Amino acid sequence: MKIVLLGAPGAGKGTYASRLKDTYNIPHISTGDVLREAIKNKTEAGLKAKIYMDKGDFVPDEIIIDLLKERLNQDDAKTGMLLDGFPRTIEQAKILDEIIGIKAVLKFDINKDVVLRRLGGRLICKGCGEIFNKHKLPPKQEGICDLCENQLHQREDDTEETIIKRYDLYQNQISPLEEHYKKTNNLHTLDSNIDLSDPECKVLENCKIILDNIKSKL
Ligand code: ADP
Ligand code: ZN
Repeated sequence: MKIVLLGAPGAGKGTYASRLKDTYNIPHISTGDVLREAIKNKTEAGLKAKIYMDKGDFVPDEIIIDLLKERLNQDDAKTGMLLDGFPRTIEQAKILDEIIGIKAVLKFDINKDVVLRRLGGRLICKGCGEIFNKHKLPPKQEGICDLCENQLHQREDDTEETIIKRYDLYQNQISPLEEHYKKTNNLHTLDSNIDLSDPECKVLENCKIILDNIKSKL
């Protein structure tokens, strides 16, 4: 089950993926996480990528594509994955088509003001990667992960200026991507403006309906 998650920064791709990966027994592969891991390990690719990431710019394709291929070759990705953060451009979508066959694309729509509120308050666990929000989804104990008790931190590129730049870059690229996936795959669009903590929020249920349907046809 090879699934692409599309959505602006803050649309909730990572949060949804962390809830869905165990249900479908496929890994969540985030190119942002892969890059941050490379930075942590001080690899050549990581050090180059950091310069772009800190500014909210796209990392050059030659860096990101090698890292992605390496990750997709690992054993846990043999049967499928929830791919988050790739493709970001039509060129990347065409390259991805050559690497793996995508079964479906889930696109999460979100408004800019919601993004600013969410990412401004985003807290990420240093241990397990679980995502919290200072305002909307606070951890039980301040600064500490509910799941693994490691410390929570804010991402370096979650400043207002960089968030706006990342959002605008996404908006510039999404139309051609949408057109591409309308032609080649089944594209599903979900409204992601309602927070997961809101009882009215049906995004996860809707994702599961779509994914169950795909699974039943495999
Ligand atoms: P967000 O979607 O919130 O901006 P990510 O963690 O997905 O955060 O990505 C963080 C940064 O990593 C991006 O701003 C960009 O610099 C880089 N990056 C991630 N995926 C790609 C990609 N497919 N192509 C180019 N750059 C990427
Ligand atoms: Zn944790």
